[in-house]
Amino acid sequence: MSEFSMYRGIASPGLSQPGTPRTKPNTPQFRPPVAPSPSGYQQSGSTVNNTNPNQYPTSQQQTEASQEQGYFPPVSPMQGQQQYDGAMGGLATQMGAVQLNSSAPPRRKKDRHAYHTVEAAGSSQAFNGIPQGATGQPTQFLNQGGIQGPYANSQASPAMSQFPVPANPLFSPAHSATTYEHAARPGAPLTGSPASSAQGKVDPEQIPSIPRSRDGPAEYYLDHVYPTMDLRLPPPAAVPFVAFDQGNASPRFMRLTLNNIPASADALASTALPLGLVVQPLACQQEGEQAIPLLDFGDIGPPRCRRCRTYINPFMVFRSGGNKFVCNMCTFPNDVTPEYFAPTDPSGTRVDRHQRPELTQGTVEFTVPKEYWNKEPTGLRWLFLIDVTAEASNKGFLDGFCEGIINALFGSSETEDSSVANDSSRRTLPTGSKVGIVTYDKEIHYYNLSPNLDKAQMMVMPDLEDPFVPLSEGLFVDPQESKAVITALLSQIPSMFANIKNPEPALLPTITSALSALTTTGGKIICSLAALPTWGPGRLFLRDDGKVHGTDGEKKLFTTEHPGWRKIAQKMVETGVGVDFFLAAPSGGYLDIATIGHASATTGGEVYYYPNFHAPRDTLRLSKEIKHTVTRETGFQALMKVRCSNGLQVSAYHGNFFHHTFGADLEFGVIDADKAVGVMFSYDGKLDPKLDAHFQSALLYTTASGERRVRCSNIVASVSEGALEAMKFVDQDAVVNIIAKEAAARMPEKNLKDIRAALTEKTIDILAGYRKNFSGSHPPGQLVLPENLKEFSMYTLGLIKSRCLKGGREPIDRRVHDMRLIKSMGSLELSLYLYPRIIAIHNLNEKDGFANENGHLRMPQAIRASFSKVEEGGVYIVDNGQVCLLWLHSQVSPNLLEDLFGQGISSLKDLDAFQSSIPVLQTHLNAQVRNILQYLETNRGSKALTLQMARQGLDGAEYEFARLLYEDRNNEAQSYVDWLVHVHRHIQLELAGQRKKEDTGDTMNTVSSTFAGLKTPYWG
Ligand SMILES: [Zn+2]
Repeated sequence: MSEFSMYRGIASPGLSQPGTPRTKPNTPQFRPPVAPSPSGYQQSGSTVNNTNPNQYPTSQQQTEASQEQGYFPPVSPMQGQQQYDGAMGGLATQMGAVQLNSSAPPRRKKDRHAYHTVEAAGSSQAFNGIPQGATGQPTQFLNQGGIQGPYANSQASPAMSQFPVPANPLFSPAHSATTYEHAARPGAPLTGSPASSAQGKVDPEQIPSIPRSRDGPAEYYLDHVYPTMDLRLPPPAAVPFVAFDQGNASPRFMRLTLNNIPASADALASTALPLGLVVQPLACQQEGEQAIPLLDFGDIGPPRCRRCRTYINPFMVFRSGGNKFVCNMCTFPNDVTPEYFAPTDPSGTRVDRHQRPELTQGTVEFTVPKEYWNKEPTGLRWLFLIDVTAEASNKGFLDGFCEGIINALFGSSETEDSSVANDSSRRTLPTGSKVGIVTYDKEIHYYNLSPNLDKAQMMVMPDLEDPFVPLSEGLFVDPQESKAVITALLSQIPSMFANIKNPEPALLPTITSALSALTTTGGKIICSLAALPTWGPGRLFLRDDGKVHGTDGEKKLFTTEHPGWRKIAQKMVETGVGVDFFLAAPSGGYLDIATIGHASATTGGEVYYYPNFHAPRDTLRLSKEIKHTVTRETGFQALMKVRCSNGLQVSAYHGNFFHHTFGADLEFGVIDADKAVGVMFSYDGKLDPKLDAHFQSALLYTTASGERRVRCSNIVASVSEGALEAMKFVDQDAVVNIIAKEAAARMPEKNLKDIRAALTEKTIDILAGYRKNFSGSHPPGQLVLPENLKEFSMYTLGLIKSRCLKGGREPIDRRVHDMRLIKSMGSLELSLYLYPRIIAIHNLNEKDGFANENGHLRMPQAIRASFSKVEEGGVYIVDNGQVCLLWLHSQVSPNLLEDLFGQGISSLKDLDAFQSSIPVLQTHLNAQVRNILQYLETNRGSKALTLQMARQGLDGAEYEFARLLYEDRNNEAQSYVDWLVHVHRHIQLELAGQRKKEDTGDTMNTVSSTFAGLKTPYWG
């Protein structure tokens, strides 16, 4: 297969016709010859135009004839640079096909648009879930191999997203229902509601399925890359994909809620959608993606707009023969410096463009000169603060933490091979980074780890009121050079403190002291804690007396007013220091995470929380998470700024960082691969539909190896007069992420009930807005959902049921922890958090869990999060990215248990309740399950994957299983079916002009004002 035909395969997956052969898969190194699109980018002269919102184009769209219709002349695809252009021809083919299906729009109009403007094709009917064009397919993922069920056949009318549909027989259990079954009982009939004209009940099988919305694209993206300009609707966040950067940043780094933006605030308001951007600047790339280019412009630094300071990017336009570049944000014409000059060709493209990644790629990194420094950059200093008090020691937390550090720094002892121990390839930390160790209880103990010592030397720092650093040499060392000293010390620490057993940790003085050790360099603190820090300055007390749950007083506990803790957090950011906490509450006690974790939330750090820490079960997880923390991409002393085109402005930021004043840069002591920021925009004028809207995030930071850099990501959206186009380019994951971040941010101000009510109202606003303005005509009793927001209401229900916001009792520590988690979560992690992956392993196909002929792991389809899907004798993996349960039905087959866990395990009672992994056995099932778990582990956020056993009728984790069945009635909220009925009813009322806002016992104004922006442009 020639490369060109491979490209054609990518551009045109022949999946729409059953039986069409699959295209050649991408190998990990495979990089398709797709042209970076914004070639010689012209704001007013289209280079790339239509994009089909139907991600998975049909093969009819790829005919030779249609190629003539493209914007680019077809070029021989076969040699060298020509091949590149040939790819453009392929792109044009795709676009030409779109035109073929429409009444060809006048050329003039196309030229006015920048690109990826989608002309209405085929149908005059409004977009209602049927893809534009004459494909007749009801949804994006139809007709792909392996997609079965009601959406797979072409009952395309009524439109895919509509229901109700003919009723199913009532669920009538032959035995009395368990609590799960009760929770999973079928939904209420629609009769009596304004929707009663419809036909009876809602069939739970017919409502939009999140598992299906993930499985289809996951299979598609096994064999296809995601080209970031050609397709403008990113894959679902929970799906692994390989992105090909064509000038737009990969969705891994940036997701816009709307990839086509209405020109005015009023038009946006008609959608009720937020205009926002989720930025995860250091996100981990997938194997097969090209590394981020690192560019060095020497002492002059990267070219930037003189007026608005935007960094050079693929959307800057060169004029005057290459002497000027026009800023894509503010349109200022800048002079090109002599050093950066290159002439332009007749089309306005710089002749050296293809040698300049900053002009072709959406995400690049610049090394920056001294004026970007605030202190001399050095390698990252990791300072481990180890709690050695009685509680930590007694419960095995201290052992686990020390062992975890050894494992994180040097790899596990079992795999150790002394002959390569000092080999740099075995380094887990980048060259240049150093580590230090401190232990603390009522006193603080520093250690000299110099490699020339036989063993580490301890220095005690007893002055808690005015802590200082008692040594200058040997505190921070190269871990490889001092490996013997460090390993010996960490191995001895648990026994050294086993008999001291001081009950009270002095945490704030320890952090104060650690901060002074990092003053000149900045760095990262990794701190363990196993009890409420009740000793010394900054001591905390039990704030949560359990009386304020569900009252207005509760929200005070979600934040901290402690002056000492607030001050230290701010000081840490100023110094370029951040902190990750590993918090164990061995007796399930209160730790005041609101106060302690404030230091993490402000400095860009993270909290790992182990409620009810139990060493046999949790040590593996602890160890994996320490390792993840020190090995993931981490930067420090970071500043971030998001810029956008004229006509838009940033209206809010949500995430974990420090923000001096609005308009200032966001400040991070540290930032890592897992952290994302939500940015919201409002209009300060009307946008010009002839121009595109641009966004750029710039993160200035020091790498762990000590280099000062700026990471820039760019994304562009087309602009349309109305919002109809916008509805075709909605990114559901980004919408959910922005809404969830704002909801979490409101928790210290508003009570939870109001926030849940506001989320309900927001869901109704968005879906009613669509029904009113964009869905075309449908029978009044039908719920019509926007194609790209089909699962949106389930995700909001998941948010309402999340630990952070759910009704009912929930320990404050857990709420606060999850609140901060949501604020910093990227789209992948949040998607899983709001709806778990559930995989049945008792009825796996023989080939599931093994590589297919192309070397890709064959994953079984996931099932809905409902007990009605649970089969007798079944075994399920339930993974929400935070916890991974292995749920086993009480009637599970003894053969299955033996296959999975080994001989002698034939009943649930034989299993170890605290085992956290599957043993390695030679059975087929065992290998399948281990492979599946490994797959889940690689497609995840910040938390490690270890198993928690949930045996029916035996383990407490069963409650967590029940809680995660989000489609059922639980967490003091409705089932998915009932929820949709409720939402539908209020949409009907809205359409009839009779809707009243949710009654929460407060006035309507209170509910609306829960989201400050409920009626402002960015919030709809
Ligand atoms: Zn500018």
